[in-house]
Amino acid sequence: MAIADDAAVAPNQSPGLVCAHHHLYSALARGMPAPPRTPSNFMEILELVWWRLDRALDADTIEWSAKLGALEALERGCTAIVDHHESPNAIEGSLSIIADACAEVGVRVNCAYGITDRHGPAGAAAGLAENDRFLTAGGRGMVGLHAAFTCEPDTIAAAAEPARTHGVGVHVHVAEGESDTWTDLRGHTADDWWLVHGVHLPDDHGLQGTIVHNPRSNMNNAVGYARPTRFANPIGLGTDGIGADMLDEFRVAFVRAREHDVTTTPDDVWAWLEAGWDLMPEARADIVTWNYAPIDPWRLAYSPGVSPIHVDIDGERVLENGRSTRVDADEIRAKAAEAAQRLFTKLEAL
Ligand SMILES: [Zn+2]
Repeated sequence: MAIADDAAVAPNQSPGLVCAHHHLYSALARGMPAPPRTPSNFMEILELVWWRLDRALDADTIEWSAKLGALEALERGCTAIVDHHESPNAIEGSLSIIADACAEVGVRVNCAYGITDRHGPAGAAAGLAENDRFLTAGGRGMVGLHAAFTCEPDTIAAAAEPARTHGVGVHVHVAEGESDTWTDLRGHTADDWWLVHGVHLPDDHGLQGTIVHNPRSNMNNAVGYARPTRFANPIGLGTDGIGADMLDEFRVAFVRAREHDVTTTPDDVWAWLEAGWDLMPEARADIVTWNYAPIDPWRLAYSPGVSPIHVDIDGERVLENGRSTRVDADEIRAKAAEAAQRLFTKLEAL
């Protein structure tokens, strides 16, 4: 088990956990107005909820959602976030807003803008330009693609190009729902690609990259179970925007895996956290001190409610006795709540 090899050595310590797929912009979505009608399948959830919310985002709401999401990650011992962002009416500069917000809280982030043809060729070009701008300026990230089913083949090829130039992967949703066609990705993928979900991929899909499993989100959207153990690819663990409590996601991933195959062990599922450390290796040297010992997958799988006491990131104590040392958590929550109200007002006008 990797835990013993890392900087964290005490029985109640672990490395910083990594959320391998997040949407920080969803932090303000809780409490949002109900959609015009109840979505009855995955495509309608996208159309009636998420593709309306992302159109309502502006620079201000992107900033406060990222600060709140980063704070909530830190408070759960997650020190590194792999984020996938879309804000079609506020594209340029959006990745820098997210990176700056996370830096203020002290949490590591890998940013990507989800390029898509949903808003026409100009929208796709603006998304591509934002990824390239951010990476050229030295930002930590990948090139984002929303999903193959919302992109023209030329757009997929155009995203793969700057990823190669910058030496990073492409962060893309793949085969989340049954209608989410993915075969246009063939011939483009590489080992550093980040393939999110893969629920409806066949075992012999032929795509290269890490498959990031998001069990709670998949259940919430009723898209099915990805059965990640069937893939030869490395497997990562993400939340798909439902917070960044990786111990909680680990427990959900474990019981979901057990429901499918009762011989699955907590060690098997804990190993899915490794992919996050491969992408964000500095998080391994971060130290989370928990209110429980020993930090062992077999115990954690059956121990809800384990919480961080302290978090040290890059040698700095950024969470002390459960409180952020860098930012005023109460102020962030209050400002984020105000920003959420502005977002909801815009959303209702869409
Ligand atoms: Zn996602």
